[in-house]
Amino acid sequence: MSLRIGRTLPPAVASIGFKNIVNGILAMFQGDCSIKVFSEQLKDYFNVKHCFLLSSGKAALTVSLMALRKISPEHDEVLIPAYTCYSVPASIIRAGLKIRICDIDPETLDFDYEELQAHLTDSKRILCVIPTHLFGILADVKRVQSLIGGNMPYVLEDATQAMGEAIGSDKAGNLGDVGIISLGRGKAFSTVEGGILLTNNENIAAVIQKIYEPIPAYGVFDRLKLVSYAAAITVLIKPWLFWIPKSLPFLGLGETIYSLSYPILKLTPFQAGLADGWQTRLSEVQAVRKKNVALYLAAGVDGPSILKGKDSGYIRFPAYVGINERATILDKSLQSGLGLAVIYPATVATIPELIGHIVGGNSAKAALISQKLVSLPVHLFVRDRDRLKIISLLHSVTGTSL
Ligand SMILES: *Cc1c(COP(=O)(O)O)cnc(C)c1O
Repeated sequence: MSLRIGRTLPPAVASIGFKNIVNGILAMFQGDCSIKVFSEQLKDYFNVKHCFLLSSGKAALTVSLMALRKISPEHDEVLIPAYTCYSVPASIIRAGLKIRICDIDPETLDFDYEELQAHLTDSKRILCVIPTHLFGILADVKRVQSLIGGNMPYVLEDATQAMGEAIGSDKAGNLGDVGIISLGRGKAFSTVEGGILLTNNENIAAVIQKIYEPIPAYGVFDRLKLVSYAAAITVLIKPWLFWIPKSLPFLGLGETIYSLSYPILKLTPFQAGLADGWQTRLSEVQAVRKKNVALYLAAGVDGPSILKGKDSGYIRFPAYVGINERATILDKSLQSGLGLAVIYPATVATIPELIGHIVGGNSAKAALISQKLVSLPVHLFVRDRDRLKIISLLHSVTGTSL
């Protein structure tokens, strides 16, 4: 890997400013009051009755799955897209459940609905289906619900990448029986790390509450670590400094690893304080993302056809390039600091640790997608010049006239 010194775009940015850190530190002195305020704002915004705040999206997912498993112990399979974040299968394993895979459609990045229908007919052991808004592109949760027809399986909406996206007045995160949102780095909005669990179902909420209550708070050392991470992110995410963390291999930026050893903790008052003003901040960054998505589309960048005619602030632009051209494109992006990236290196079915935990399903289309997808940055640090360079890089390698 070549080391680049100089202006380097991160693939995705959910920025934190010094003002937010000051707010976070002030909130540490107010304690649970700031958590309560954040939680009430979220309930209002998402129009949900119950909101639980945790240390990450995967923590929220694990707790959700543990609760559903408790309610319906005879169902032990979780149906997920063949191409998704490695934290999703990890959470399923941590909750003691099995993985069932459904292929995804290259034009929508949503389920292959014919296969989904077949899974629902074939297996009576499915506990929940996890429609996933990859990049913030909304999956068709209504269609999943109508194929299910009755009460089972549950619909657990993975809105980790889609905070702020909506269909009319229905906010992503509130479309299924349970919804999860991530506040991790590189998601739509960030508090260093964090997870939001949302539900309107009283029965599920009561079971979650029982699991949630005894979950520990962050220890003193980890709270200090959060503050220093927030400060480091604030400074080092800037393109003129981002080459520094990127060149430190032990930080493992941009790496996707499968791991079961993540903490499950309650969100801290510091993180709730960091989130202060989140609605305005979220809509500001969304507007920038929208503009950049529209400009890539206007330049003819290839991607899932669902992107056309939509007006959304995806967290990255999913572009399709030739499988044989991708390595060259990524290498050139690395040399010029353009922030192109692969989101997940491969499909869920190829994760070696999952052998024996997957009960079935196809990944053929997902495997092709995983080889031809590169994400383009759309965040607030992308200047016109950067975007033009990215477009001309794609053009020069793929040989298409964009
Ligand atoms: C990031 C992500 C998660 C996990 O969220 P964390 O906050 O990183 O734990 C789950 N699912 C998807 C699709 C994600 O992108």
